[in-house]
Amino acid sequence: MRIVLISTPLGYLGSGKGGGVELTLNSLVYGLLSLGHSVDVIASRNSKLYKSNEKAKLHLVEGEDQISWQHQNYNSPITIPDNSLLAGMLEKGLNIAKQADILVNMSYDWLPIWMTLNVDLPIAHIISMGSESSVISNLISKVYAKHPINFAFHSKIQANDYPFIKKPIIIGNGFKLDNYTFQDSVKGPLAWVGRVAPEKGLEDAVYVANELGEKLKVWGVIEDETYASKVEQSFPQETIEWMGFLSTNELQKELGKCRVLLNTPKWNEAYGNVVVEALACGVPVVAYKRGGPSEIIKHGHTGYLADPDDKKNMLAYVEIIEKIERKKCREWVEKNASTDIFANKVVNWLNKVMHEYL
Ligand code: UDP
Repeated sequence: MRIVLISTPLGYLGSGKGGGVELTLNSLVYGLLSLGHSVDVIASRNSKLYKSNEKAKLHLVEGEDQISWQHQNYNSPITIPDNSLLAGMLEKGLNIAKQADILVNMSYDWLPIWMTLNVDLPIAHIISMGSESSVISNLISKVYAKHPINFAFHSKIQANDYPFIKKPIIIGNGFKLDNYTFQDSVKGPLAWVGRVAPEKGLEDAVYVANELGEKLKVWGVIEDETYASKVEQSFPQETIEWMGFLSTNELQKELGKCRVLLNTPKWNEAYGNVVVEALACGVPVVAYKRGGPSEIIKHGHTGYLADPDDKKNMLAYVEIIEKIERKKCREWVEKNASTDIFANKVVNWLNKVMHEYL
């Protein structure tokens, strides 16, 4: 197949602004290339694909970012800036897709989904978030009525946010395992990884660290400075150790030294890439029992699921984390979330979408 992928309209690939979509896109490209498909990626100026994806054709587009949906009101109208990056990526993508088999949209936004009803080319959508906008959810509902196969989700629990989706297509996610080294560091520090923004609930992880009289190592883009300093100031100085945003290779080296990852989302996390990345390094995860992480983590086997927003419950599980065998964490990723498994699921799905357009 020749597959054209539309990237996120937030930041460039490598900036971290696009969150998990950046890694997901690279994993998917790698998996598709390994299966012998040809891939074109349309992304923002300055984007870089991983070295292992050199065989993909990268097309760069200039333009203004969209506003992230999780930071707008649920009922906000659609905003498209002048010189829109999203519109530019679509224009280029649609043009290239004339010579390709299918266009795959990875941006969570209105315009590409609306296009599905208005062009003859097959457009398949990887929905990367729970329901964060009424306008987008209503549009998905409308398009789904005509093209029920054209949407795929990362987890069942994410798809539940769209109650009109009767039989969701679940593709999970994939991780290039040789990018992550297993480490048996049972006595290491506490880790937290993610965009530093309110929906990620950093304060609950800092609470746990503070109760234990330990530091919390925090990796990721500080997306919301005001929120970050508010969390920092609510606890004794230096409880948080800011580690910055690292490349996958640097991140996994450091993360693998930790004894547990705390994962504290306050929203219906679609999947939770950082959870699987920790597991791939052998790091067990304690997360709230909500969203994608609650589908990924096997309670008592690869980590623990605490009652949502119950920090004390989370603390109690962190205190017994050494009961988890780190090898089992890595094994789960090998068996369930490799790039091969992911790409095969996506290809099966895309074949079904293409079949609808014959
Ligand atoms: N990440 C990274 N370097 C860092 C911290 C995070 O590359 O220092 C990446 C991480 O690999 C993951 C993404 O940021 O792919 C966060 O994705 P996740 O699915 O956990 O959450 P999202 O940001 O999409 O809500």
